[in-house]
Amino acid sequence: MKEITILSGKGGTGKTSITAALASLAKNAVLCDNDVDAADLHLILKPEILEEHVFAGAWVARINQDACTRCGICIDHCRYGAIHRNEGVFTINPFKCEGCRLCERLCPAGAIKSERSDKNSWYISNTRFGTMVHARMAPGEENSGKLVSLVRSEAKNIARANSLDYIINDGPPGIGCSAISSITGSDFVLLVIEPSKSGLHDAKRVAELVGNFNIPMAAIINKCDLNDDITKDTETFLEEHNIQLLAKIPFDKKFVEAMINEKTIVEFDDESRPSILVKTVWEQMVNLLANTN
Ligand code: SF4
Ligand code: SF4
Repeated sequence: MKEITILSGKGGTGKTSITAALASLAKNAVLCDNDVDAADLHLILKPEILEEHVFAGAWVARINQDACTRCGICIDHCRYGAIHRNEGVFTINPFKCEGCRLCERLCPAGAIKSERSDKNSWYISNTRFGTMVHARMAPGEENSGKLVSLVRSEAKNIARANSLDYIINDGPPGIGCSAISSITGSDFVLLVIEPSKSGLHDAKRVAELVGNFNIPMAAIINKCDLNDDITKDTETFLEEHNIQLLAKIPFDKKFVEAMINEKTIVEFDDESRPSILVKTVWEQMVNLLANTN
């Protein structure tokens, strides 16, 4: 079983459209949406949810005002400045609280209790291309890295149980916690780059991050005709860093039309130029993966 993670430096590169198209070609894969903060693979794959589970978020402390004796011990010890005093009333700012639970232990009145958020969920679903594991992180919630690790681990269990050959991860853009959690332990990274100043800049940062993990990596330049000069700069960067360029895919409004019709480009128009290019990308990836341990 091989785990492929598809990444981009920034949003809007077409990464999810590419991921969905590859998913439609893979046949024997589990699909995994690791972009838990802004998941959108479901918009194309239209999953039918089979299982829904709560992902317990970070601890957050709360004060029971009826039990609080206004002694002030908690505010003196919270090193994150999360506890406020207003006209003698103590309250906790949930956005500042780091969930260390120190105040709960120190409160002599037993007025502080910590709770874990139950606003985050993860799902196992059916799609027309196989099983999909995905998640939804509520706004302002933390621990997205842990949630990514969890969905990946579930995807791995499903792939093993069904003797599937691939896990295809739609990774988050950028180099944050959830990107790092997506890369760790992957067998292969496909980097989708858009030829814009910020696209190349951010892709370089992702390439550097993946390089630290020593994972085989290849790239696609998507919408390559948007800016010829930056496409050339991107090719130079990839060459200098020994990152194989699998395809340059020109902008094609069929990608947009396919999305509007909730289809992958391969389903929408099998003979279109982008479909043919995506198919060559998948074939090359299969060959490259066959040569990884
Ligand atoms: S330590 Fe407990 S009793 Fe004292 S102010 Fe804080 S919440 Fe109230
Ligand atoms: S749990 Fe920790 S961070 Fe949160 S209010 Fe209490 S002491 Fe501060």
